[in-house]
Amino acid sequence: MIVIRGATTIASDTKEEIQRAVSELLEQIESRNSLKRDEVVSLVFSSTSDIHSYYPAKAAREAGFIGCSLFSAQEPDIDGGLPLCIRCMLFVEKNISPSHVYLRGAKVLRKDIAGKINIAIDGPAGSGKSTVAKRLAKEYNILYLDTGAMYRACALKGLEEGIDLNDEAAVVALMRDVKLDVVYENGVQRTLLDGRDVSEAIRENAVSLASSTVSKHASVRMHLVEKQREIAGKMSCVLDGRDIGTFVLPDADFKFYLTASPDVRARRRHEELKAKGMEVDFETLKAEMIRRDEQDMNRAIAPLKQAEDAVRIDTSDMTIDEVVETIKRAMQEKI
Ligand code: C5P
Repeated sequence: MIVIRGATTIASDTKEEIQRAVSELLEQIESRNSLKRDEVVSLVFSSTSDIHSYYPAKAAREAGFIGCSLFSAQEPDIDGGLPLCIRCMLFVEKNISPSHVYLRGAKVLRKDIAGKINIAIDGPAGSGKSTVAKRLAKEYNILYLDTGAMYRACALKGLEEGIDLNDEAAVVALMRDVKLDVVYENGVQRTLLDGRDVSEAIRENAVSLASSTVSKHASVRMHLVEKQREIAGKMSCVLDGRDIGTFVLPDADFKFYLTASPDVRARRRHEELKAKGMEVDFETLKAEMIRRDEQDMNRAIAPLKQAEDAVRIDTSDMTIDEVVETIKRAMQEKI
């Protein structure tokens, strides 16, 4: 006897959607394991507590699983759990090495089986990238890589040393002498310069425009992009930046481009700085932000732009929850 695992997600809690999802999941399990119906001894389903419209076991019976025992159970309601999810376990009288099947949004549940995933989120300053990326990383239990922090750390060092940030050779020489590390403490990214934690210092407003200036230089970018590709090549992660979908990871599994009106973006950044006790004049901040976007969009190498295959989301009138839901839904549809 072997056990085959499977899971899928549904787009909405309706009888038809549950029937469709259960048939699709069982068909995939049967074909990937070359199963015959009479080899299935028992079939156990569980579904998340947001599913009420139909018993998955009943849908399986209707899909032709009549000779085995069937059972449906409800899962506990766990914070941050994948919503609208149906899981199953097939007990099978057969001597094979089982192929487990994870479909649609459920793929992210078993990265060991479904493979590594990379989610690219690009967009201008204040579009909501980092807040959304952090939420996704937490929900899917994958790494969040804030690539902007790397450019910021480089700019901070340049400002501290008083070098001309427009001078590519000077910036590169500085970077050769400094050790830039990205480490994780309880899932939170910390940025280290020669072992010094600069995670807070790089958020200062003066560093924002400076980071855009250092990020124009091709040699600076290649140095940092190499680090970003190395991390993304090793593990599942969500990366946010300006060029992730177009340049760093053109083959990322999922790509999103977030945007919002300049007013909304400046207001968000203003609030963020205020919450950290940093007082900045709103109009000055807005003007700087627009200048930074222009610089990022018009640089020669890997400028800020939407990848052709990225899903564009205007977050101006959306809450964080709505943006996260939109992204998760788009991911489910793609899988
Ligand atoms: O996202 P954040 O505001 O921290 O980024 C700071 C700056 O770093 C950006 O304005 C941009 O110039 C640069 N950057 C980049 N490519 C990335 C991430 C950030 O050029 N992937």
